[in-house]
Amino acid sequence: MPEKKKTGPAGQGGGNNYNPNSIGDDKMKKPKRPQKKKVCEFCKEHHKGEIDYKEFGKLKRYVTEKGKIIPRRMSGTCAGHQRQLITAIKRARVMALLAFKAE
Ligand SMILES: [Zn+2]
Repeated sequence: MPEKKKTGPAGQGGGNNYNPNSIGDDKMKKPKRPQKKKVCEFCKEHHKGEIDYKEFGKLKRYVTEKGKIIPRRMSGTCAGHQRQLITAIKRARVMALLAFKAE
């Protein structure tokens, strides 16, 4: 019968500060994914009309250092505003307010 070492809550063997009880507690206290409730920033502000490309200071927050647009599931923006945001970011790029690509 093959012995699997890292299965089950009781981690036998090893011995380098491995305490199965404390690890169990950790899992209870801090889950792997902290579920932050993300609310669309634009909905929160009751943003009127379309997102303006001239507000590139705000748009920057939705673009990574490399110039990529942060996906909706990361930023928490709603579908409608994400669409507007992408349009605004693209316009801002054309107007040289945002970078296309990091150098
Ligand atoms: Zn929204």
